Amino acid sequence: AGQGVGPSSGAPSQMFQFKLVLLGEAAVGKSSLVLRFVKGHYYEHQESTIGAAFLTQSVTVDNAIVKFEIWDTAGQERYHSLAPMYYRGAQASIIVYDITNPESFERAKTWVRELQRQASPNIVIALAGNKADLENQRKVEYEEGAKYADENGLIFLETSAKSSQNVTDVFSEVARKLPKSHSPADT
Ligand code: GDP
Repeated sequence: AGQGVGPSSGAPSQMFQFKLVLLGEAAVGKSSLVLRFVKGHYYEHQESTIGAAFLTQSVTVDNAIVKFEIWDTAGQERYHSLAPMYYRGAQASIIVYDITNPESFERAKTWVRELQRQASPNIVIALAGNKADLENQRKVEYEEGAKYADENGLIFLETSAKSSQNVTDVFSEVARKLPKSHSPADT
C-alpha cells in the first residue's frame, strides 16, 4: 500500500505479486530468458542458472503492476524430478522448449501434464518455443507448438533470449491472464 506511482494521469495504482516457475529441459534457455527479461541483457557464456533462488521483475498490464517472483530450476531438471515445493504456491509457469530440439518439446509436454496434475488448478501456463532466432535449425514447427498450446489452454509464443523477440511479451501475456481481484501485494 502507499506505493509511489508515476505522476502521469492514469498511472497504475495497484500492485499484484505472483510466483512464476520456469520449467523445461536443461539448456533450452530458461536462465537466458529470465536474464533478458530482468536485466535486459543476453549472456552468451553464462552459468546455466541465475545463481539465486528467484529474481523479481514487474510488468504493467490493464492498469495494474504485476510483479513476478521468478523461480529458475537451478539445474534440478537434470534429475527429472523437481521437488513439489518448487512449484507449490506458483500461480504461473513458463514452460520452455528449444525449437531446434524436438526432445525438449516432448519434455515440455510432460511438464504441462505434471503441473496440471500437481500444481494449483488455476495456474496460468505459457509455453515458450525459445531460440526462435535459429530459424535455419528449426525442428519444431510453429504450428506444432501453437496447436498443442491451444488444445491445452496454454499461452503460446516463440521467443528468443538472444534477439529478445517476445520475451517481455510472454510475461505480459501471463500477467494479463492472472486474476487481479485478490488484495494487492503490500510491497
Ligand atoms: P537453461 O539451462 O534452460 O537455463 O538454459 P541457458 O539459459 O543456460 O541456455 C543454454 C544455452 O542456450 C546457452 O549457451 C545460451 O546462450 C543458449 N541460448 C539461450 N537462449 C537462446 C536463444 O534464444 N537463442 C540462441 N541462439 N541461443 C540461446
